[in-house]
Amino acid sequence: MDLGESDRLIRLLSPRIGRVSVVARRARASRRRFAGAFEVGNEVVVDARGKGDLLAVSMVELVRAPRAARDDLTRIALLCFGCEVAGSLAPEHAPAERLYGLLGHWLSRLEGSAPPTPALRIAFEAKALTFAGLGPRLSTCSRCGAGLSDPATWQADSGGAHASCSFGKPVSADLLAALEALRRAPLAEAGGALESWLLTDAIEYHLGRGLNTRALLGTGLLAG
Ligand SMILES: [Zn+2]
Repeated sequence: MDLGESDRLIRLLSPRIGRVSVVARRARASRRRFAGAFEVGNEVVVDARGKGDLLAVSMVELVRAPRAARDDLTRIALLCFGCEVAGSLAPEHAPAERLYGLLGHWLSRLEGSAPPTPALRIAFEAKALTFAGLGPRLSTCSRCGAGLSDPATWQADSGGAHASCSFGKPVSADLLAALEALRRAPLAEAGGALESWLLTDAIEYHLGRGLNTRALLGTGLLAG
């Protein structure tokens, strides 16, 4: 995002230090200064220095940039969504190796020839929540451990799925089983026509805010 008259604030996800922001000085004044290295989804090596909380970029090296994932609107939307989800769920200044690895797999999947489906997005959400240490329980009741059958319920603030021991938002046990299967499937194999926003809602609940990029997904681009 823009910062001051000519700078940009860059949000990075690092495997070793998690979510971190740096300033790219004069990035808007001179387009050549960082030569597109800070486009969303790029993998970069950054040297940043300074005093206080906000470090300024002194060197950046572009390691990998998405290509196919920037070729159509569905993939662009998922690229931006994945970066926001993984970045937002990562801790600040603490290791985030699993979320970083997941984002790398996500970007590789979006570079592949197979068209992304809504179920792929759900698989990513389930893994991101899990790697952030937020659960959720999907195969048994998060309160009593009982198996799930209809009517099951869902409580984002209380572990996820619940059996008949609890009140909450009604949800089908079949849907929860399908979400669990997607959580366990490698991203390269996750697919199908399942459509659900349950885990997107759970991410937003844990962040305490809406995802900026969610609107990109809700425009019908992902109808396929
Ligand atoms: Zn229970």
